[in-house]
Amino acid sequence: MTLSFDPDTLPLPVGHFIDGRLVPAEGIIDMHRPSDGKPYAGCPLADEVLVDRAVETAKKALKATNWSGVRPRERTVVLQRWADLIESEAETLAKLEALSSTRPVGHLVAGDIAVSAEQIRFFAEFADKEGSDLVPTDDSNLGMIMTEPYGVVGAITPWNFPVSMAAWKLGPALAAGNAVVLKPSEMTPFSTVYLAELAIRAGLPAGLINIVLGDGPVTGTAMTGHPDIAKVSFTGSTGAGTAIMTNVACTGIKPMTLELGGKSPQLVFADADLDKAAAAIAQSMLSNAGQACVAGSRLIVEECIAAPLAEAIVTRMEAAKPGPTWDETSEYSPIISKRQLNRIHGIVEAAVEAGGECLFGGAQMDAPGYFYQPTLMAVRDSSSPAITEEIFGPVLTMQTFADEEEALALADHPTYGLAAGLFTRDLSRALGLTRRLQAGTVWVNRYSRSRDHILPTGGYKRSGIGKDLGREAYHANRKSKSVLISL
Ligand code: NAD
Repeated sequence: MTLSFDPDTLPLPVGHFIDGRLVPAEGIIDMHRPSDGKPYAGCPLADEVLVDRAVETAKKALKATNWSGVRPRERTVVLQRWADLIESEAETLAKLEALSSTRPVGHLVAGDIAVSAEQIRFFAEFADKEGSDLVPTDDSNLGMIMTEPYGVVGAITPWNFPVSMAAWKLGPALAAGNAVVLKPSEMTPFSTVYLAELAIRAGLPAGLINIVLGDGPVTGTAMTGHPDIAKVSFTGSTGAGTAIMTNVACTGIKPMTLELGGKSPQLVFADADLDKAAAAIAQSMLSNAGQACVAGSRLIVEECIAAPLAEAIVTRMEAAKPGPTWDETSEYSPIISKRQLNRIHGIVEAAVEAGGECLFGGAQMDAPGYFYQPTLMAVRDSSSPAITEEIFGPVLTMQTFADEEEALALADHPTYGLAAGLFTRDLSRALGLTRRLQAGTVWVNRYSRSRDHILPTGGYKRSGIGKDLGREAYHANRKSKSVLISL
């Protein structure tokens, strides 16, 4: 099987996906391929009327199919068939994803797409295993916490891992008995449309997944303000999360899960396995060119090992070769858009002006498309824009510390608290610091989520509210009712 493909001839499902069918629509928002900068399609723009149609469809489907009231195992079985189909159709999904996103096609089939199928299976299993709880009372009463689905969940996803992010939202919401209206990013909508089509082919009743395409201000706002969307599940930037909270507060109160931005530190102590630390830190910047919410973009290293660690990281950065996402041998990703490329470079320039020193990289790559060099920058002042801003690109800052307290003080970001990495062979230091780090995830002597779906992910501070993945994500898609019966 060859995964490489011709980007000019790939058929695209240009339209919304409502009631089990593609609803073709005019492509209004210009789309450019990150790998070569060429315009290639337009993303449709759902207005309030279309969003309303999608929500009404979801409501009717919930009623007609009794999705929340069927034997829970029926939900499990349908979702498992969907996961199987995702695996057997992985090649098509991977091509649709690679064309518009920054994910090389060679990373997708065994990577993002296989993992997404596993995650859907993981959530499918909750449907008939997690239910209402009896609670202790005196003999004359029976107390229980009953749970039930919300109804229609509104999900909004970013462009950086389109299929994965959709799976994180759809898997738990559907397993928990809800219907979903989902809006993917206007930059990467097509793989999500195909993902929904596969769900229907797997036997999910039409109308339980509806995909509306469009931007944040028009389509996203119409969704989050819709009175019949009972819960919002969002992944994206802290700025958009703030706008969503504001809109929800002004249009009606509803629960929200917000998975937002990050600026995660990686602390390396002199007793760490330096080679292992360098590999993990470089990988976190090279993977998707640092365009990951949990990218460990702030290296905080004990002074005495800063030079050898920097050298080991740069050696790995030097190996990054740009290549189009549709070539299966490509490893290093482009930046999603020209605008984002310019933004990254603007922050790097401002940081250099503020006293930062580029030890490696710091410029656009000499290649077609929007590739940026992996960059390592020594920074002294924590008020540098390279430290305060979520760059969302392959830019790693390096700060040094003399002792644990200084390391912790540097790690503590005023805005973000999504994840943190810690490299040391001292177990009591690792456990002590893990307790004190202000982050929703702490990795020790590694830096990746891997396939551990059971661990919830989510942020402290302005990195978000609530969790995706894990048992918590399933329960976040059901509301609880307290019941007390006098016997
Ligand atoms: P973004 O916030 O620009 O867009 C995300 C989604 O929100 C898109 O679908 C967009 O159309 C929509 N949107 C934008 N404004 C909106 C509004 N006012 N109302 C409703 N919807 C709106 O983010 P992006 O550039 O697509 O993705 C990168 C960001 O996502 C980074 O900040 C990254 O850290 C974050 N992210 C977080 C996680 C996590 O798990 N915490 C995972 C992936 C990405």
